[in-house]
Formats: sequence, C-alpha cells, structure tokens
Amino acid sequence: MERTTRQKTAIQAAIETAQRPLSAQEILEQASLQVAQLGIATVYRNLKSLVSEEKVHVVTLPGENPRYESNTVANHHHHHFQCTVCQRVFDVHDCPGDLKRMAPQGFVVERHELTLYGRCPECIGAAPAAAHGCGSGHDHN
Ligand SMILES: [Zn+2]
Ligand SMILES: [Zn+2]
Repeated sequence: MERTTRQKTAIQAAIETAQRPLSAQEILEQASLQVAQLGIATVYRNLKSLVSEEKVHVVTLPGENPRYESNTVANHHHHHFQCTVCQRVFDVHDCPGDLKRMAPQGFVVERHELTLYGRCPECIGAAPAAAHGCGSGHDHN
C-alpha cells in the first residue's frame, strides 16, 4: 500500500514539474528517479487513476501516443509545439485568439486546437551544419 502511494506520488510529481506534456515513457524515466523498480504497466495504471481523479489531463496530438499534463495547466487555454527531431511536446502560451471568422458560413465554432511543429532550441543546436563547403556534385578546376 505504501509503495503504491509512493509510486503514484512520483508519477504525479513528474507530470507537475515537467512544464510540458510527457509521454508515459518520459513519465517512467522521471518517476524512476524517485521510486525504484517502477514499470510501464504501473505508470499506465496510475495515469488512468490520476486522469479519472481529474488531476491529470490527456493530451492527444494527431498520430501520436497520448501525453499527460497537469489539470491545472490544461484548465488554462493554451497550445502545443512538437519538435520534429526529438518528438518532445512543449506548451505554447500564445493564442491567435478568435478563430470564428474561419468557420464556413452557417457554422458555429465552439473550440479550437492548434499545434505548431518545428525544432526545439536543443535540436537546432544539435543539427549538423547546413553548409560545409562544397558538395559532391561539382568539381573545382
Ligand atoms: Zn527537440
Ligand atoms: Zn487558442
């Protein structure tokens, strides 16, 4: 019982301190620093319970496994940025605002979701230099 509580606390803490939505695998990696012998099945079981208690919100991006963010974050309207290199998802606190005008004539907008794609600062830094002198297709005489 006590071990169960510690696991759940560690999982919740991983999500709360992340400042960005985490995948189950990322949660496992973070929470494993706090509790030994944590397995992915345990992570999923506790996530399910945290979601049903409305402490954790599921973030679903198209074509992606679910990610998890704290409900406190989810309750504030925000968007996400996914890095196409490391696949990590980050929070975007800006919003284009009212998108009603984009709806076809006669339709009413109730909500919107928006995901930006690109590179995070770490992956920009890690990218190989784009220009490294001459390419293979030409010769110098
Ligand atoms: Zn990245
Ligand atoms: Zn918005």
